[in-house]
Amino acid sequence: MAKIDILVIGGGIVGLTAAIAAAREGARVTVIDAAINAGSTANAGSLHVQMQSRFIRLYPEQAPNVEASLPLYLEAVKEWERLDAELGPFELVRKGGLMLAESQEQMAFLEKKAARERQRGLTVELLDRPALDRLAPWLGAQIVGAELCRDEGKLNPLVANVKLRQRAVALGVEFGIDRAVELVSRSAVTVLCASGARYVADRVILAAAWGVGELVKGLGLHLPVNAEPLHMNITEAGAGQINHLVQHAERTITLKQFGSGQIVIGGGWAAQSRGNVQVPAVLADSMLGNVALAARLVPAIGHLRVIRTWAGMNTTLDGMSLLGAVPGVERVIMAIPGDAGYTLGPLCGRTAACLALAHTPSIDVERLSARRFSA
Ligand SMILES: Cc1cc2nc3c(=O)[nH]c(=O)nc-3n(C[C@H](O)[C@H](O)[C@H](O)COP(=O)(O)OP(=O)(O)OC[C@H]3O[C@@H](n4cnc5c(N)ncnc54)[C@H](O)[C@@H]3O)c2cc1C
Repeated sequence: MAKIDILVIGGGIVGLTAAIAAAREGARVTVIDAAINAGSTANAGSLHVQMQSRFIRLYPEQAPNVEASLPLYLEAVKEWERLDAELGPFELVRKGGLMLAESQEQMAFLEKKAARERQRGLTVELLDRPALDRLAPWLGAQIVGAELCRDEGKLNPLVANVKLRQRAVALGVEFGIDRAVELVSRSAVTVLCASGARYVADRVILAAAWGVGELVKGLGLHLPVNAEPLHMNITEAGAGQINHLVQHAERTITLKQFGSGQIVIGGGWAAQSRGNVQVPAVLADSMLGNVALAARLVPAIGHLRVIRTWAGMNTTLDGMSLLGAVPGVERVIMAIPGDAGYTLGPLCGRTAACLALAHTPSIDVERLSARRFSA
């Protein structure tokens, strides 16, 4: 068996970027992935920075953790820009994100949210309708204003995932499709897979999103990992030019336009879980509700046909990224991104690689460690 310095379990955006960062430092890296339900292959490519109203409504108890993490999102977008310049282009555009209001109550909500975000270092502005018209003349007549966060953006994850994988292969990273079923920690870490294969590595990075909870149970850590099935739509190409990432102060939606002209519509409508090892099923109500809302907010796209609809598995924890060793098992590093995990993915991946290589990470990981769960 070839010697593995770092075994990465989970080949989504976090695992891929961790593998790239470690291989760049000369480590021999293998990635094993069960190839099921990766949020990274289902996601919409929104680069989020401002707090999502959906998250505040659904998980109010976790909102303080997202709020405390806001500076990390600024760093995460810069990380994506660095990768885009080096390994892209990934169709990355950072023209800002608009969170729309359709009433004065919603504007008041955005004003309060913006005040909290400014305290965490975000540059956000509130726009009235005339200001919005200069920026986004394609919005429905009922929109009264919006919050603008200029750091937000979008990219094409289909392009980014392929280019990152190619980079990892070029760096000598080995890939295997298998399901890790057990971790046994000794001087090196032994990992047993569903196929019966056994890997021994000096360090292990757990980037298996919803799968991490099961893997660390045997090491005495209980994580509140939750698999959340979500819905997405994409339309045929439209002629317009929607440069911004569009969200709503109260309703669940993200909407953006790819370089192809297609509109990607999602933002957190439910899909139906069929367990972790099967892809979630699409719900007709989610599809219709999601696209009807999109057409109301941006009437100019109302005539476009939806050409594909799909569901994928998101992972939620406590709103904050988890980056650090399993307590008492220093060779096993966990890397689960917080809310909007594709945005945070490359920063979390590189940081996990730093921790596995015993380098000092560029971000403060103290708050993000597993101590908050083991305490
Ligand atoms: C529909 C949808 C839209 C989204 N849109 C956005 C967006 O626009 N912007 C944004 O920032 N975020 C978005 N997200 C969230 C984002 O996609 C995820 O948070 C992110 O991709 C998680 O990356 P990851 O690498 O941690 O895990 P994942 O990409 O989920 O990958 C985990 C991998 O681990 C594997 N695995 C699990 N258990 C095991 C095991 N025991 N052994 C081996 N392999 C295992 C799985 O097969 C999977 O391939 C979206 C999510 C969904 C579902």
